[in-house]
Amino acid sequence: MLIVMHHSATPADVQGVCDVITALGFEPRPMPGEQRTAIGVVGNDGPIDRARFHGLPGVLDAIPVSAPYKQVSLEWQAERTVITLGNGVQIGGEALVVMGGPCSVESEEQIMAAAAYVARAGGTLLRGGAFKPRTSPYAFQGLGEAGLKLMAEARRRYGLAIITEALDPQGAELVAEYADVIQIGARNMQNYTLLKTVGRLGRPVMLKRGMAATIKEWLLAAEYVLDAGNPDVMLCERGIRSFDDATRNVMDVGAIALAKTLTHLPVIADPSHATGRRELVTPVGLSAIAAGADGLIVETHPEPTKALSDGAQALLPDQFAGLMSKVEGIAGTLGRPLARLG
Ligand code: PEP
Ligand code: MN
Repeated sequence: MLIVMHHSATPADVQGVCDVITALGFEPRPMPGEQRTAIGVVGNDGPIDRARFHGLPGVLDAIPVSAPYKQVSLEWQAERTVITLGNGVQIGGEALVVMGGPCSVESEEQIMAAAAYVARAGGTLLRGGAFKPRTSPYAFQGLGEAGLKLMAEARRRYGLAIITEALDPQGAELVAEYADVIQIGARNMQNYTLLKTVGRLGRPVMLKRGMAATIKEWLLAAEYVLDAGNPDVMLCERGIRSFDDATRNVMDVGAIALAKTLTHLPVIADPSHATGRRELVTPVGLSAIAAGADGLIVETHPEPTKALSDGAQALLPDQFAGLMSKVEGIAGTLGRPLARLG
């Protein structure tokens, strides 16, 4: 439920509505706006009787929010969320954002080489995992904090913002000290302790869709982060599991288009994990942009044959540059510019 106040409502009127909400056993979330204040109601598991609010001083309307997720829904907030990063790049605005880099940070030489050509080709964020969620415990697990330090140095040298994954709540606090965006991986989409932690850390979050998560579960996971106090969340569709192993996953292009109708949060697409094959990354990435994604996160490696993880899906440097120019072409057709480093 969203209680919309008259533009002439006084602070006492707003407080009066908040008191009624609290007395009903729910939590008020006042949202002062330019024109008028709205007060969101959270904590209810079913519908609330609108009549409780009609007639209270200053109340214009009481609008039910039908979705189980509240704060992430377009019903709750009609303006789209735009996230501004430390380097000035905005995610969720008109401009399309491309994040590029290796699956894992492996060495100084590797990450600096990647950062250099990602920036040169027009990327605005550098990706690279320092803590890796690997299927096998014997596979490369990441460089840990040393990897975060290398990411931060790459940001200093090339001006790119950095995005890197946090695997657990303690790790998230460390990642937040370095990263511009904390990535929550597909395997952790429903790790509610981790979601609550990144909700408190005050760093933008990219929440990947679990490989078998419904769109409702994905949006409810995002709701955890917003409800813990962090509004700067972007979603990431990275492919879902199917019966066919011809591609690593299946890019759910429909989910991208649908999410844009359900939530004000930016939606990013990851064609690398969706396909698992470098020759498919560009066409599938373009389809995601055409479906309404606000940007792409793409794996690329200076020497994919030597990659310690996900080499088969990493674009070669010149393929990454080729992707950038094709994204710019589609962006032009859609009337959207490409985000650039300032
Ligand atoms: C990754 O980005 O390297 C990664 C592990 O992705 P996902 O969580 O989507 O599998
Ligand atoms: Mn990867």
